[in-house]
Amino acid sequence: MTNIENLAGKVGNPDTADRPTSRKSVVTVNNLRKVYGATVAVEDVSFSVAEGEIFGIIGPNGAGKTTTVECISGLRLPDAGSTIVYGLNPRTDREELRKFVGVQLQESSLPPRIRVWEALNLFASFYSNPLDPRELLESLGIANKRNGAFKQLSGGQKQRLSIALALIGNPKIAILDELTTGLDPEARRETWGLIERIRDRGVTVILVTHYMDEAERLCDRVALINHGRLIALGTPAAMAAREGGEVHMQFVPSGPVDDKVLAALPGVTSVEHRGTRVVIAGSGDLTTLVLYALLKMGVQASDVQVKSGNLEDAFVRLTKTDDSTEKRGVSQQ
Ligand code: ADP
Repeated sequence: MTNIENLAGKVGNPDTADRPTSRKSVVTVNNLRKVYGATVAVEDVSFSVAEGEIFGIIGPNGAGKTTTVECISGLRLPDAGSTIVYGLNPRTDREELRKFVGVQLQESSLPPRIRVWEALNLFASFYSNPLDPRELLESLGIANKRNGAFKQLSGGQKQRLSIALALIGNPKIAILDELTTGLDPEARRETWGLIERIRDRGVTVILVTHYMDEAERLCDRVALINHGRLIALGTPAAMAAREGGEVHMQFVPSGPVDDKVLAALPGVTSVEHRGTRVVIAGSGDLTTLVLYALLKMGVQASDVQVKSGNLEDAFVRLTKTDDSTEKRGVSQQ
């Protein structure tokens, strides 16, 4: 068992560890609004998060993502609307809420001279059932930095410490903001594995990220926020398929194909011949339909290549459309 697996085995409520994840809503955000002076940080955001889910919040810089999760965790109070976490309202049940929610702090929130063990012990003292700080540090691969001052840590080590601080209270919900910023590719992947295993133990994860590959890999569902409003909500795959742009398929046919039949398939927008290849553009489940049509024509396709839009394409498309649209609505995937 690796250190990371060892940690994942310890995080989460042992009562629920071996039971299948129920899908009840544990976080509900209703028409959230938060204003800082003249800046409307969050205008109108509503969504709910199911227990055991990794729920992503994506959006351009300044869209209102951090403010939204700060309201969920009780660090800020909404100006209008509400956030309910395990039936608790941060306005009235803040102390109780703290037991359920672990928050990854922004880097600047720790004093530069605080030692790693001091920070962990301090945070552990806030909770009735904390994880063991030593084991947590070991599991995150920064045990050798135990006596180091915060300001002496590298970017990746600071990031690991902030994850440790979010998890030290053995929370039911972990809120992670820009989880892997500053980590090298290997550490990013290792962190993703850790988060998945924490989820597998029954912890619900809310993840703010601007890395679309991270959201695609980790998140069960994502909410896309733009200018303080929710503009799309759904699984990364559905969002990519629906809003990621055209699918391009190409292949070499074993014999003549009837272009008219292919062009008439649902979702197909063009059929072209380029040398020996047929190139088809369109949307939806193009590949299955085309291959089935070819089968019926008695034609075999070789060297089949398919390029479909990804979450990043969907992100760019949806935010661009939203920026140029007066009347906004939520795209449900
Ligand atoms: P994101 O996390 O999507 O980058 P934020 O929630 O941090 O967005 O910020 C949303 C908007 O609110 C931005 O315009 C930001 O400058 C502003 N903002 C955030 N925090 C504060 C604050 N404490 N005081 C004033 N403005 C703020």
